[in-house]
Amino acid sequence: MDALKKRNIDRGDQSCVFCGDSDESVEHLFSSCNFSSTVWSIVSSWCKIPCIWGFSVKDLLEYHDLSGLKGKKKDIVQGITRIGCWIIWKARNERRFNNKPVKLEEIISEIKSYALFWCNARSKDNDIMRKDWCSFVNM
Ligand SMILES: [Zn+2]
Repeated sequence: MDALKKRNIDRGDQSCVFCGDSDESVEHLFSSCNFSSTVWSIVSSWCKIPCIWGFSVKDLLEYHDLSGLKGKKKDIVQGITRIGCWIIWKARNERRFNNKPVKLEEIISEIKSYALFWCNARSKDNDIMRKDWCSFVNM
């Protein structure tokens, strides 16, 4: 919405669809919004890693490099961060264009489901079980 406003395209309400406390910018939507911060906090707890955060989307997308993680877990966290951004964007669009209520539990569930699908599709073994994935065991 912020980018459209800068191009003099009026799309109505400029406020964030998640919190309504700030104009919607890329930085706000993905990193500084309280709702998105809560998503990242829950995802971080699930992954058993320090809280994913950043001042910008670039920081979020580079989190895996700065986190001290190594090997397979680093790759998985990189994928989960990207999937998290995509799911937040999807939820934003559903709210903005279809007036669908935003539910934190659904967003977390979608991140876990899409990330499992992605991880198994990329894995040679294709052996990550959903129950292990949901508790992030053996990653
Ligand atoms: Zn917000």
